[in-house]
Amino acid sequence: MGQSLAEAILATWPGARMVAERPARALGGEVRRWLDKGAAVEALGGGYRLTLPGGRTLTITAEGAATLDDGLRGDLAERVAIATEHLARPPSWASLDPPPQGAWCLVCRGGRFWREREAPRGWRCASCRPPIHLSASGVVTAP
Ligand SMILES: [Zn+2]
Repeated sequence: MGQSLAEAILATWPGARMVAERPARALGGEVRRWLDKGAAVEALGGGYRLTLPGGRTLTITAEGAATLDDGLRGDLAERVAIATEHLARPPSWASLDPPPQGAWCLVCRGGRFWREREAPRGWRCASCRPPIHLSASGVVTAP
C-alpha cells in the first residue's frame, strides 16, 4: 500500500493530475469566466464573493485569492472599489427610488435610510437625519 487516496485517484484519473498541479490556473480561469458573465464582486474575509446575475455565487477564500495572478487580483479589487463607491449615498437625496441593498451613508457610514410614507420628498439617512417629527408608521425604511 503506502498510496494515499488522493494518489490513487490521480493514478486512475488522468485529468486530476493537471488540476492538482495547477489549482491557481484553474481558479483563475473560473474567476475570469464568472467576470466575463457579469458577476458582481464583493470583498469577503480577505477573499471575494462573486454573484452572477442569476444568483449563483462563487466564494474565493483569502488563500485562493493569493494564488491568482496580479492582473486578476487587480481586476477584482477594482470591481469591489467601483461597487463600494456606487453604494455610497449622501445623508439625503431627492430621488424616490429606494437605495440598493448595501447602500451606506457617506457621512456616518450607516446603512439605514427612510422616506415619508405620505408625500415622500426623497430618502434620508436614519442616523444623520432621523425622522423624529414622524411616527414609525409615517415612514418607509430601507433596506
Ligand atoms: Zn448618515
